[in-house]
Amino acid sequence: SKSNLLNSLPKQFFASLAARVEAEKAKGHDVINLGQGNPDQPTPPHIVAKLQEAVKNPMNHKYSPFSGYPYLKEAAAAYYQREYGVELDAESEVAILFGGKAGLVQLPQCLLNPGDTVLVPDPGYPDYLSGIMLAQVKTAIMPLLEEKQYLPDYQALPLETLNLAKLMYLNYPNNPTGAAATSNFFERTVKLAKKHTICVVHDFAYGAIGFDGNKPLSFLQTPGAKEIGIEIYTLSKTYNMAGWRVGFAVGNKSVIEAINLLQDHLYVSLFPAIQEAAAAALLDSQTCVEELIGRYQDRRDVLIDGLQSLGWNVTAPEGSFFAWLKVPKPYTSEQFSDLLLRKAHVAVAAGNGFGEFGEGYVRVGLLCSEDRLREAVKRIEALDLFTD
Ligand code: PLP
Repeated sequence: SKSNLLNSLPKQFFASLAARVEAEKAKGHDVINLGQGNPDQPTPPHIVAKLQEAVKNPMNHKYSPFSGYPYLKEAAAAYYQREYGVELDAESEVAILFGGKAGLVQLPQCLLNPGDTVLVPDPGYPDYLSGIMLAQVKTAIMPLLEEKQYLPDYQALPLETLNLAKLMYLNYPNNPTGAAATSNFFERTVKLAKKHTICVVHDFAYGAIGFDGNKPLSFLQTPGAKEIGIEIYTLSKTYNMAGWRVGFAVGNKSVIEAINLLQDHLYVSLFPAIQEAAAAALLDSQTCVEELIGRYQDRRDVLIDGLQSLGWNVTAPEGSFFAWLKVPKPYTSEQFSDLLLRKAHVAVAAGNGFGEFGEGYVRVGLLCSEDRLREAVKRIEALDLFTD
């Protein structure tokens, strides 16, 4: 039997989607799976080669320092300097993580006390809620609305909620909406956080993936951001390293110290050979990242142009590898995603899995070849959406 705490956790939404996809495949259908967020491309060969070499070094078979090797923190700091012009002290302003998720989920336990309130975007990445439940703190949602470009409207939040809030999650480029943040929005965020003493955690999982030549903004580029928050970066998407489990938190020293302290109690740091390969990914040639951005741009254009040519009014994502589509009437998100899966064998994620404000949308991942995306559009065209 499970503890009350485990029983209180939200249902793992993607597990049920994966099961439905498998059930369709088991019936012999060729499913185009655009439902989950797993990059379909391999890790660039130079990073794999670095791991192969590093595995042979006996030093890498030992425990590493609990918070990770200094060279990896220095590589993260050098990355932020090179990519964003952000200065970081490698020892005190960088924490190595087992992927972004570990930091995001552990943060409420690091900073909060039972009963504290956390602001979360809705729709949003579901694991923020897992971290909140594990720390037994309270959630206050910040609706992300299309008419506000999927940026939270701070003026619409009750003053009482702002006064109670201790932590706020943000995520741009955004999963699931594909929206990007502006520097003006980040400036307003810093001002609000200072005024109400809220710690901001910006989830920068899609930090490398911006479209139409626009590079996503790091929250730490905002004046004063380091005083009130941190950013979580991951190698999962930038370098197709989702299975390697490596990321880092950067920013406010006292938050970084709290993350490292909790991690000291939970683990010893990542496999050292992965630390070496991760440092190489961050420091070596970034041609692979340019190629990756180009690939997602091409896929985005195929999907969006294809759907627009069917007469759909779709907004192109500005970043991330997701498109957020309004469901045609009279379907709910679940009905529509179910219809696409059963009739077109195209799997997409129902928007309500990302929160109540996700109802009426589906999320489509740009996670297969352009040809398969063209095929998905063709299959959608063949459906008669209003009579099926
Ligand atoms: N944040 C967002 C918005 C994501 O979509 C994901 C992965 O899908 C993550 C964080 C976690 O990434 P990882 O734990 O692989 O670094």
